[in-house]
Amino acid sequence: MLGLQDIDVPLGGFLEAMQGRGHRYLPVIWAAACPSGPVTREAFELIVDAIVEAARSEQPDAVYLDLHGAAVAEHVDDCEGELLVRLRAVLPPQTPLVASLDLHANVSPQMLELADALVSYRTYPHVDMSATGARAAALLQARLSGEPRLALAWRQTPFLIALNAQCTDLALPGQIYGQLDALEQGGVQHLSFATGFPAADIACCGPALWGYGSDAAAVRAAVDRLADAVEAQEADWDFELLGAAEAVHRAMALAATARRPVVIADTQDNPGAGGHCNTTGMLRALLDAGAQGAALGLLHDPAAAAAAHAAGIGAEIELTLGGEPGMAGNEPLYGRFTVQGLGDGRVTLPGRMMNGVQTNLGPCAQLAIGGVKIAVSSGRMQMLDRALYRHVGIAPEAMKILVNKSSVHFRADFAPIAERVLVAQAPGAMPADPATLAWTKLPAGKRLRPGGPAFVPTGAG
Ligand SMILES: [Zn+2]
Repeated sequence: MLGLQDIDVPLGGFLEAMQGRGHRYLPVIWAAACPSGPVTREAFELIVDAIVEAARSEQPDAVYLDLHGAAVAEHVDDCEGELLVRLRAVLPPQTPLVASLDLHANVSPQMLELADALVSYRTYPHVDMSATGARAAALLQARLSGEPRLALAWRQTPFLIALNAQCTDLALPGQIYGQLDALEQGGVQHLSFATGFPAADIACCGPALWGYGSDAAAVRAAVDRLADAVEAQEADWDFELLGAAEAVHRAMALAATARRPVVIADTQDNPGAGGHCNTTGMLRALLDAGAQGAALGLLHDPAAAAAAHAAGIGAEIELTLGGEPGMAGNEPLYGRFTVQGLGDGRVTLPGRMMNGVQTNLGPCAQLAIGGVKIAVSSGRMQMLDRALYRHVGIAPEAMKILVNKSSVHFRADFAPIAERVLVAQAPGAMPADPATLAWTKLPAGKRLRPGGPAFVPTGAG
């Protein structure tokens, strides 16, 4: 785990920032999973037990946790809060405890109360993971050096924000996040804004702003200033989502005169947010419209990848690709495909976000049908790096239209080559508009999208 120092993850940035300070580390566990349904009871208990038992037996001087912040388990809604409760129960009182969080954390009052500090990313696509770990290290080091716990101020936003609208390359999020550094002055040591993961049906789901300072009034004022700015522009947090056919229609019109690819995000099938990575809605829309020079990826279908490997490059194969039988608009797509490329799934991702990470996606293939090239994989991964196309022989820069199964992370590597980015709402497991989800546990009155309907608990009329 200590080998993560050179990797662009929060723990890596934490270790680098702590280097040379003479600390001895007691690494426990570092685990991650693709977002999907609730964490199983068994997995949650196993992981939390490992951490809590280490704390109990080692009685460390301080604790650093590299958390995501939006985990929900079968039996626990606020996983990170529960972890902190159990840790505090075995740690000596006043043990400094700091955690870094993803920008998509759903931050609970319990988490804020029990940690000395929580520090979330400031970019989406997430390109500041190490920097976030380093911020957490600075706050933990201050406590270890004997400085008192800082005063906390926080606010939750009264509306949910769709993932696509959270992108910090967009004007409004960029403007809010751009204020954090400048407001960290005087008695304000740290400010965080987590825009939340708007698909977790739990009480603390949604955006939160918080900060820490030696001057309680100053940190309160800074948090209020940020939260007021977020809320004053509520309508601007909404986001335009296109139907599949409309997105293709617009992309083809733009591509007619563009010199660079038009990129469409197939956001509702983003495996990084719970999508199955195999829907056919966008592929069907491309074929129906007769789109030429289009590529789509990744499409998870191990059987199709295996068939392509068995047939070899240049072969024509008939098969049923992707989809889910019985899901409206997402039937498996039967067709005759040409095998145009093969790969073993081991790809080094050079893009800004992944920064050298290696994948192991199993057999991969390029299947072509009509004017569309499809990057098929045996493992699920969102299309966040152009190398994933190149791996099966597709040159993304040379395409007219690219359809990426990703919500926002693809922008880190694709925005520099994109004529325009469109976001499509083809059928998929991760609804892009949180107002379309069946909420049951939100606080009464929380708006399900900016300016949208307010949540009414069952039985409240
Ligand atoms: Zn995230």
